[in-house]
Amino acid sequence: MLAPPAFCDAVGRELVRFGRELASEGAAQVGGAFTDVPAADALVKSSPEAFLLAVLFTQGVPAERAWAGPYLLSERLGHLDLSRLATERESVDVAMCARPALHRFKHTMAGWVSDAATRLLECYQGDARNVWAGEPTAVELMERLAAFRGIGRKKAAMAAELLSRTFGVPVRELQGGTVAYDVQVRRVFLRSGMVDLDTRAEIERAAAEAFPEAPGLLDLPTWLVGRQWCHPTRPQCGECRLADVCPRLVERSVKGVGARRAAAAPDSGRGAS
Ligand code: SF4
Repeated sequence: MLAPPAFCDAVGRELVRFGRELASEGAAQVGGAFTDVPAADALVKSSPEAFLLAVLFTQGVPAERAWAGPYLLSERLGHLDLSRLATERESVDVAMCARPALHRFKHTMAGWVSDAATRLLECYQGDARNVWAGEPTAVELMERLAAFRGIGRKKAAMAAELLSRTFGVPVRELQGGTVAYDVQVRRVFLRSGMVDLDTRAEIERAAAEAFPEAPGLLDLPTWLVGRQWCHPTRPQCGECRLADVCPRLVERSVKGVGARRAAAAPDSGRGAS
């Protein structure tokens, strides 16, 4: 069933409005926080290296758990020193995997953390701020982020948007940004008639059409709509932010690995890169 274009326009406008509200509030992920562990939230906000490492964690686990990852790892290791993270790979793996494991993909995540530390030391003088230094364009920033093993286009889009919106990092040509192609965004775009096909190209095209100046602005509001109301089963359309504009195509579902994860854990964070 094809949604009338009017729905797309109205949904796009409401998502932009929601996105602007979130930006004005300095929203991180949920409210002003990345995670409900205060010390972990403070670390992600104060340490560029912790932020970058946390981006690696945002995969297949609830967002709060993902963003707490670097802090919990530092608690177990007694440090978050890049040189040691890069060279003491066995220790990182042991700390990541000790019960309860710090991530669903514990061995993979440990390797990504050590690789990221190595890259930060070799390419960015051990300072993650250099990754986003020099007022890069949105495209350049996503490319720099995606050069880290464990950060694909999806995480790169999310991180670029967070750096710009939440941390005020100067980013040029925001029209080159986009939304993360994750399960929440896909479900909301499908059900709200923003797209009829669940492909990365279609999702990114729809975001760019809705807000050509900065398509990435739609990322967080759409993710929040998916997480809070547009659940895989029993969506809460009556309470939804898009209630007045959405055609409620709730029979539409997201297929694939990410969809199964979301069905198992509706609170799921960003899925696989
Ligand atoms: S919860 Fe309902 S109203 Fe909200 S985006 Fe999903 S289908 Fe649309």
